[in-house]
Amino acid sequence: MDNRFEKVVALCKRRGFVFPGSDIYGGLANTWDYGPYGAQLKQNVKGYWWQTFVTRRDDIVGLDSSILMNPKIWEASGHVGSFTDPLMDCKNCKERIRGDKLIEEHLGVEKAVGKSLKEIGEIIKENKLKCPKCGKSDFTEARSFNLMFKTHQGVIEETANAVYLRPETAQGIFVNFKNVVQNCRVRIPFGIGQIGKAFRNEITPGNFTFRTREFEQMEIEYFISPKDKAEIKTTFDKWKKDCKEWYLSLGIKEENLRFREHEKDELSHYSSMTFDIEYNFPFGWGELMGIAYRGDFDLQQHQKFSGKDLSYLDPITNEKYTPHVIEPSFGADRAILVILLDAYDEDVVGDGEDVRVVMRFNPKIAPIKAAIFPLMKKPELTEIAHKIKTDLQQRFTVEYDESGAIGKRYRRQDEIGTPYCITVDFDTLTDKKVTLRDRDTTNQERVNIDDLEAIIAKKVS
Ligand code: ATP
Repeated sequence: MDNRFEKVVALCKRRGFVFPGSDIYGGLANTWDYGPYGAQLKQNVKGYWWQTFVTRRDDIVGLDSSILMNPKIWEASGHVGSFTDPLMDCKNCKERIRGDKLIEEHLGVEKAVGKSLKEIGEIIKENKLKCPKCGKSDFTEARSFNLMFKTHQGVIEETANAVYLRPETAQGIFVNFKNVVQNCRVRIPFGIGQIGKAFRNEITPGNFTFRTREFEQMEIEYFISPKDKAEIKTTFDKWKKDCKEWYLSLGIKEENLRFREHEKDELSHYSSMTFDIEYNFPFGWGELMGIAYRGDFDLQQHQKFSGKDLSYLDPITNEKYTPHVIEPSFGADRAILVILLDAYDEDVVGDGEDVRVVMRFNPKIAPIKAAIFPLMKKPELTEIAHKIKTDLQQRFTVEYDESGAIGKRYRRQDEIGTPYCITVDFDTLTDKKVTLRDRDTTNQERVNIDDLEAIIAKKVS
């Protein structure tokens, strides 16, 4: 299937999953708004994540911390000093590029990682790498560009304090570690999970929602004892497995997922071991999420900068230590993009002339679980269809549709990935049964109206 990316982007707009941001004003580059079905899909994915990693586990608690935080936090975390990308300008067309990404695209990841600004400039020159926009090879020196968005808190800009929009949700968790330990009856090993917006002034956003400047993360900081190295490795491997399984449980095809370990000189300033889960995007393999072993870097730094004791005293063994941390960091928007790309399918119908576009979402995250149609716009049918819709709506997201031919109504639901369509016809008046049509097989069966709730519940749980 060629042009899958373009087709998914077009479907997203046509069917109300994702719209270009600020559309009626000509847009704002690389911003996207989730439309009605996209917003519901995202709610479902975030809800499923929260359920899997927070409410269904005994060892993880939730958090919802502020986007604006004391700026000292970003000094302690290393973001003020080293959260930078190597920025270069094309002297010919003024295009801004990330030097490391240009090298990565042409010469491979190994050539790009851990290089100084000077080395990046030299590699680009030696290999005569070209500007992706105009094709010339004449760049300014590479310089560090901090990715944090800076703003001001207070009424008058000049006298107000500078604050940052958080570039990751993780630090909100670290600075609440003491509060959670003191007040929430947790014992190591335990984790804190949170979902929230993060902001990065990316130099090269793009590929639809893959890289944007405002995005949402779903992160866990899992606190462990530093003592037993073998145990740390086992816990880390278990997290790798759990993260991959979460994507598989959403129906993402296994052949589209792989692990990639970060090279030693590629590691972030806080990490001593990181694995990415990558997805086979139509534009190549790319990071879907990261799992990092952050050691005690963050808690030690916050201890130093805040002057507060962030060590942990085990209530049973009486051991005192600064915990180490394993961080599974998911991007909600990248997860949605992967779910959309992986779900897209074209089914050839009949003699091959007709193509049915179907989003094969796992039913538990499908934005609409069932659509209810009266076969015709006759009051005796619409009344029953409305009643079924209202009853099912108490438990599921459902839709009512009475317009146009039934085949067209099915196709519309296929494109938004609705697992079930329910049709009320004239036989319903006597047998109290409806036609239930399955999205994936297109099989139809007659079922009792009274059984609908249980059938749908089984499918979407
Ligand atoms: P990349 O190498 O793609 O810039 P990263 O390694 O900087 O990503 P992390 O800091 O590990 O990313 O962030 C964790 C997750 O947050 C990523 O795996 C991704 O899912 C998501 N994420 C990070 N930056 C962006 C962005 N600009 N747009 C959308 N999602 C993002």
